[in-house]
Amino acid sequence: MKAAAYTLERPAALAALNTRLADGGWGVKPIAGGQSLGAMLNLRLAQPETLLDLDALAELRAVHETADAVRFGAMVTHAQIEDGRVPDPTRGLMPFVARGIAYRAVRNRGTLGGSLCHADPAADWVNAMPLLGATCLVAGPDGTREVPAAGFMASAFETALGEGELLTAVQVPRRSAATRWAYRKFCRKTGEFANALAACLLDPADGTERVVLGALDGAPHVVEEAGLLARLATDTERARWLAAQDLGLDETRQSMLAEMLRLALRDLETAR
Ligand code: FAD
Repeated sequence: MKAAAYTLERPAALAALNTRLADGGWGVKPIAGGQSLGAMLNLRLAQPETLLDLDALAELRAVHETADAVRFGAMVTHAQIEDGRVPDPTRGLMPFVARGIAYRAVRNRGTLGGSLCHADPAADWVNAMPLLGATCLVAGPDGTREVPAAGFMASAFETALGEGELLTAVQVPRRSAATRWAYRKFCRKTGEFANALAACLLDPADGTERVVLGALDGAPHVVEEAGLLARLATDTERARWLAAQDLGLDETRQSMLAEMLRLALRDLETAR
């Protein structure tokens, strides 16, 4: 199938893009790497009147470092993160996650912002950014606002973005040298989306202790609780805890998730 007819515009400045988005309503759609939207257009699941190409906007590729965080422009690609061409505030978690996305051709074009905005529950940044306690920076007709990554995805393929809003950047807190993390996903074939995903982060410097369960039917399940990771070390406790999360999965998916969680916690034990 071929895409329905649309007009392609390439705004040269972020201000012009924001105006165009605000004026155009839902009929106008940004296109980042096109790795997900291309398929949506060809299947006619998306039929915008106009596409706004974000490629030329240097502001959306910029990366800013502060003492506490790194702010990644929405157009930073998976490959840039994988290759270490941008700073890593996460003690290796971001490059590790980037390396596991699809294959290199997709990673060369696909972007951090595009992935979050597409909001596929099985995608990687959708799960990794809440794990990292990141914040999404949004610009729209009413100015700018910040949305915690844990609340950015509303449900499968839906985000907190309102009409005319653009994700401009993602701010990721800098993790201490004592941080340990683990990230496990089950895929039938390398480069495919996850069927089950579990990840954990422990940063003793600020007491962050977090578990993310992903590749669910909707937004990731994020749990933050002191002492949780140690408590989940035993098979019995873990099984009881997972059942109590009430994720609405069938037996097969629940058992895949249980295994990813077991492996993630084992990885965390040995992580340094
Ligand atoms: P686009 O496709 O250009 O856009 C996606 C959506 O986001 C569109 O609705 C668009 O309008 C909107 N959008 C884009 N940028 C913005 C913005 N700044 N503000 C507001 N809205 C915006 N991903 C994984 O995480 N893990 C995988 O294992 C994986 N496997 C893949 C395998 C294949 C074969 C393919 C083709 C893709 C795979 N992906 C995977 C998806 C890939 O990571 C995409 O790059 C990503 O989902 C979308 O990023 P994009 O930059 O291409 O966005």
